[in-house]
Amino acid sequence: MTASVNDLITLTPKDSCNTQLAAGPWDFDTVPGYGPGSSQADQLPDPVSRPGQLPERYQLMSDTELDERIAAAKATLGEELVILGHFYQRDEVVKYADFVGDSFQLAKAALSRPEAKTIVFCGVHFMAETADILSDTDQSVILPNLAAGCSMADMADESSVETAWEEICEIYGVDPDAEGKLPILPVTYMNSSAALKAFCGRHGGIVCTSSNAATVLEWAFERAHRVLFFPDQHLGRNTAKAMGVPLEQMPLWNPRKALGGNTEDQLREAKVLLWHGFCSVHRRFTVDQITQARAADPQVKIIVHPECPMEVVDAADASGSTDAIQKFIAAASPGDSIGIGTEINMVNRLAAQYPDRSIFCLDPVICPCSTMYRIHPGYLAWVLEELVEGRVNNQISVDPQVASHAKIALDRMLAAKPKA
Ligand code: SF4
Repeated sequence: MTASVNDLITLTPKDSCNTQLAAGPWDFDTVPGYGPGSSQADQLPDPVSRPGQLPERYQLMSDTELDERIAAAKATLGEELVILGHFYQRDEVVKYADFVGDSFQLAKAALSRPEAKTIVFCGVHFMAETADILSDTDQSVILPNLAAGCSMADMADESSVETAWEEICEIYGVDPDAEGKLPILPVTYMNSSAALKAFCGRHGGIVCTSSNAATVLEWAFERAHRVLFFPDQHLGRNTAKAMGVPLEQMPLWNPRKALGGNTEDQLREAKVLLWHGFCSVHRRFTVDQITQARAADPQVKIIVHPECPMEVVDAADASGSTDAIQKFIAAASPGDSIGIGTEINMVNRLAAQYPDRSIFCLDPVICPCSTMYRIHPGYLAWVLEELVEGRVNNQISVDPQVASHAKIALDRMLAAKPKA
């Protein structure tokens, strides 16, 4: 049985990307920043600085006491409570989840439990927002630690996207052509704020996940000549490239530069404008890691997440969402060796689930998603025990107008079907 990522980090912090990860998140989540393990390039924009808090008594509790308290509070709350756990969440928390999945699977899972008064989302902020948008209005959504954001989602803030959109519309115009096609549509990855999903809802745009990005781009190209894709440049590039869009027609949009750092001519030729965003976790995967894995075992199969850079996706045998990665492992045979390019908690859980296969993370350094890692069992115990006392802490409530526009973009995604 593979040790949990938390145990590995606690026992051998020197093998992790930052030895501070072995400390309790409360030691660093009250100060601005994404915490140890995040990329040095991840700068926290001002408006998204969310302090975390945890009463001291929970910080001092042993793992066993926290375990017992979580189990007891969950049993007391019964059907009133549903706990959602993302694939990238630590084992010590995910073992209490009623559903485990990716962000969209979890938001849909919440819909299947309308009798639950409270949804505790063990994931990050944008996921809790999406659950709140899709859930019944009388359900409360709780994020156990408000400091659990997503550095990629924060790389595209509403005001930068609004400014970019004004510049873009000055070049392309806003009116449809004779066939009714618009000059451009916005497409946002699920990993974005509710405000940006609402922006897409207002401007005829749509949301995508890593599972349906190609279907969503097809949907967009039926309605517009080009798209502005945010915040993840890699998912946008990898998906559009696989659909045959040439790299020269996918300029990067850097929000800190005029015209995103492009000329008007480049923008006129563009099909996909890629926002300058990325995931710190998936950016760690390299072609070198794949080369080394193949040198060690020529039979090894490599699968990576499409948030990885294009060169890494091109060098792998396959790429796909967390769901696709799970299916790839399930379809492998006993004795197969598989190197995976995605978050370490999920890889280790798959390795434990399939002990007859040799499953390993391509990145030799233990580096969990630093913001998911902020959901320590102490925070889960605290919010659950507060619920037992009738108090709702850390509730995520999306403004109703923002939620209604965001839901339009989410509903367009749900209605989009792959071409036959
Ligand atoms: S793995 Fe990357 S995209 Fe996912 S929550 Fe963490 S930082 Fe955000």
